Amino acid sequence: MEVESLNRSSSEINLPRDLEEIATTRPIYKGKSPHKKKKSDRPQTESVVYLDLSRLLKPFGYVNPSLRRVWFVKDICGIVCAVFTWLLIFYAEWVVLFVIVLHESSSFTSYLHGSLFYCCSFLAFASHIRAMLTDPGAVPKGNATTEGIKSLGLKKGEVVFKCPKCSSIKPDRAHHCSVCQRCIRKMDHHCPWVNNCVGENNQKYFVLFTLYICIISIHALYLAISHFIFCVGRDWKSCSGMSPPLTTILLIFLIFEGLLFGIFTGIMFGTQMSAVCTDETGIEQLKKESRERRSRWLSMKAVFGHPFSIHWFSPFATPRFLTSEKIYHSV
Ligand SMILES: [Zn+2]
Ligand SMILES: [Zn+2]
Repeated sequence: MEVESLNRSSSEINLPRDLEEIATTRPIYKGKSPHKKKKSDRPQTESVVYLDLSRLLKPFGYVNPSLRRVWFVKDICGIVCAVFTWLLIFYAEWVVLFVIVLHESSSFTSYLHGSLFYCCSFLAFASHIRAMLTDPGAVPKGNATTEGIKSLGLKKGEVVFKCPKCSSIKPDRAHHCSVCQRCIRKMDHHCPWVNNCVGENNQKYFVLFTLYICIISIHALYLAISHFIFCVGRDWKSCSGMSPPLTTILLIFLIFEGLLFGIFTGIMFGTQMSAVCTDETGIEQLKKESRERRSRWLSMKAVFGHPFSIHWFSPFATPRFLTSEKIYHSV
């Protein structure tokens, strides 16, 4: 079993010689009052809570045991950004339906565009919810105890790493997130727009979120510009249920939103796909960490689940991961 991590910033523990050392390690106060604790030693409030969503859905007859413990990051900045994202999606849906689709002359084409737009925006919203509420691959907090390390069954000479911030056994490719206050497996970055880390378990949903937002942004851009031309061609007569100035403002804002988020999510999608194909996370790219990498196809399957099917594009399909990577998951 390969357990040696390349992250040199963590506390290195050689087993079994140093096993007792980790169990007895306590904060040392050099030249300071033992009553004055360091900032890192003060008890911190949990930044992650587990929500019980099964109660909410029970009256509707939907019972799912996995919803009894749903991951949620208590970060006010992330919550504001996530709600703002939903509002932007709902705004685009409202303008597309009430300003554009219901007032186009060719009803079949406009309804087809409307259906496609609503379908993709629903998939974008669902991907966002799943990226936000899925445990990104958090390592159990404080599991770097004597018992925890013994249960790994390591052989002599094998090395594990302890995160000094959350006292967990740090698996290979895991990094500590200061917002989640946890070590996250294969952490790419913490994204405030989905109010969560992007890691091993939710990267698929994040990639789908950027893809569907990019698609609806380009689509909204096309619909808004073509409807604007349509209105000008008809001299603003019965092209919208609203006054020409209000219609213009709503369309210009939709064009601005589509342009901005189309470029932003397009770049994010490209960056994420490049990271997936090269089997290198955003943090590994920044730190220039060298390690053995999987092939492009194997890396894709590790993120989206395997084998390849339509489920790769569905935010409702949970990917089946390669079990060989879950070395420390049971600790
Ligand atoms: Zn940590
Ligand atoms: Zn995080």
